Amino acid sequence: MPELPEIEALRRYLLRQGLVGRTFVEVDAEWPGVEDSTDGMGGLSPLVGRRIKAFGRQGKQLIAKLDTGVLGLHMGMTGRLGVMAPEDESFRYRRLALYLDDERRLELDDVRRWAMVRLENDAETFTAGMGPDALDPDFTSAQFIERVSAKRSPIKSVLLDQKVLAGVGNIYADEVLLIVGVSPSRRADKISTRRLESLHNTIVGVLENALAFIESHPDDQGRPYVIDTQDDRMQIPRKPGAACPQCETALKSKKIGGRTAYYCPSCQH
Ligand SMILES: [Zn+2]
Repeated sequence: MPELPEIEALRRYLLRQGLVGRTFVEVDAEWPGVEDSTDGMGGLSPLVGRRIKAFGRQGKQLIAKLDTGVLGLHMGMTGRLGVMAPEDESFRYRRLALYLDDERRLELDDVRRWAMVRLENDAETFTAGMGPDALDPDFTSAQFIERVSAKRSPIKSVLLDQKVLAGVGNIYADEVLLIVGVSPSRRADKISTRRLESLHNTIVGVLENALAFIESHPDDQGRPYVIDTQDDRMQIPRKPGAACPQCETALKSKKIGGRTAYYCPSCQH
């Protein structure tokens, strides 16, 4: 599933492609629910004639700011974006093509069809109730500690709660908890300030490393790398019984808040 680093890599790719300043000239949608929308295009037909002013992101939500309104793009489980020249072949699972005034098109590829693209009046529609972005430079360790230590739930669930902070997914949560040696089931309000500070620094470090990894492994069209949980940017193997990368003890797994956590019973307390 695309997480914060993948979405930030997409945002930077769209900027590099020079999409800011371009105007949409045509919408071509093949999408669940499209047939039910009043315009038969998923409500996206008013995009035509609107110009892109900027690309923002909060957590996994990508937001194209337009001269009027905003276009929210959420990649769901398998979504990815590509900017195509007229001669470029379309994505295999193309769900949406937004044609631009320079003859290129922005395509959405999505095998599972869980991505969401919506036109709204303001960005708050997409970010309401969402906590600060995990990589926002203005989001300090002190703010992280204040938000997290107010929670009595297991730390793993708190890290995944997008209302506390936006952008830490399941795999990254397991990874950072292993690195700082905190058990995923430990109650957030029982963790010392010093360890929470270290946890915050580790989250930033792990997400930034993942972003650097993605940006240094583009596909052959120069588009952002599509994620693979098996790649070597992660330390923790997601298999019960696999060896802990730090001490070789067999890893355990358990469900916390409905999500599977992998952890080392020796390293994490
Ligand atoms: Zn270990």
